[in-house]
Amino acid sequence: MKKVLLSVVVAGVLSISANAFTLGKYGEMKFEQANQNVYIMHGPAVNPSVENEGFMNNPAIIEGKNSLIMIDPGGNYNVGKKILAEVGKISKKPIVAIIDTHKHGDHWFANKAVAEKYPDVKIYALQKMIDVSKAGEAEKWYNILERLSKNLEGTKEFEFPTISIKNGDKLQIDDQTFYIHSPKRAHTDTDVLIVHAQSKTLFLGDNLMKNRLGGFDESSSIMGNIKLLEEIKKAPELKLYVPGHGPSGKMNETIDPFLYYMETVLVGAKVALDEDMEAYEVKPIVVEKLQDYLKWDEFSGQLGKHLQKALGELEALDSE
Ligand SMILES: [Zn+2]
Repeated sequence: MKKVLLSVVVAGVLSISANAFTLGKYGEMKFEQANQNVYIMHGPAVNPSVENEGFMNNPAIIEGKNSLIMIDPGGNYNVGKKILAEVGKISKKPIVAIIDTHKHGDHWFANKAVAEKYPDVKIYALQKMIDVSKAGEAEKWYNILERLSKNLEGTKEFEFPTISIKNGDKLQIDDQTFYIHSPKRAHTDTDVLIVHAQSKTLFLGDNLMKNRLGGFDESSSIMGNIKLLEEIKKAPELKLYVPGHGPSGKMNETIDPFLYYMETVLVGAKVALDEDMEAYEVKPIVVEKLQDYLKWDEFSGQLGKHLQKALGELEALDSE
C-alpha cells in the first residue's frame, strides 16, 4: 500500500515539475496575483545568462472581462512560449494586446511567441521605440542577448509593435483602462510608463529597478530618470509600483533605493566636476555611500560607467 501511494505521489510531483517553468537555481517562475486583476511574473533580477535562459524582466498580465492584456512579455521567443504556458494557468482568455515599455529586447522579444499564438494581438509602443528598433536597436539587442544567454538563435524575425502610443494617451482595451506617460529622456528616449486605472498599478519599465542595475545607454538621462521618479513620488500614491527588474511593492520601498542610488551617483559626479577630478577618482567616495548596494546585480560593473555618464551630463549642462 505504501509503495503504491509513494509512486502516485512521485508521479504527481514529476508531472507538476514537467509543466513548470523552472530556471536552475532561480527556481519556479509563475504569475502571481499582485494587485486585483494584475498578475506579474517577477523574473530573476540579474543579467541575462544561460542559466536564466535570457529571462530576467517582469512580464505582467491584466485580466479583463473577455481577454488579457500583457505588458513586456519577456526577452526571447523561447522563454515567451514558457511564459505563455504559465499565463494559461491563470486564465484561458486570449491575449488581445501587448504594451512594450521601451526599446530594449529583454522586455519585448517575446512578442513573437505571443503573436504566434494570438495572430490578432495588437502591440503598442512609442513610435520612436518602433522606429529605432527597426533601425538597428533590435539587431543590437539580439546580439547582446544571444551572446549572454545562447537562447535566441533562429528567432531573429522580430515581432515589432505596430500601434503607436504617445504621452497622455488613454487606452481602453476590453473593459480595462490604461494611461500612458512618456518622459522625454529617462531610462531611454523610448519609454512609456503605464497606469492601470482599475487596480491603481504603475508599470515603470526600466525607469525603476530593484536589486539590479542596468546600463544607461546613449539615449538615456540619469538626471531625467531622477526627475521622473521625483515627480512620481510627488503624485498621489497608487497601490502598486512595478519595476522593469526586481520586486514590485509600495511607492517608497520600491522607488527610494534606485532613486537614492542615482542621486548619490550624481552627487559624486558633481564633486568630480567641481574638483576637476576623473570619474574613477571619486568612485571610492561614492562606493562608501552605497554599501547597501554591494549585493545588487551588476553594481561593480555599472557604477563606474554610471559616474562617467552622470559627469558627461553635467559637463553638457555646463557648456550650454
Ligand atoms: Zn531597459
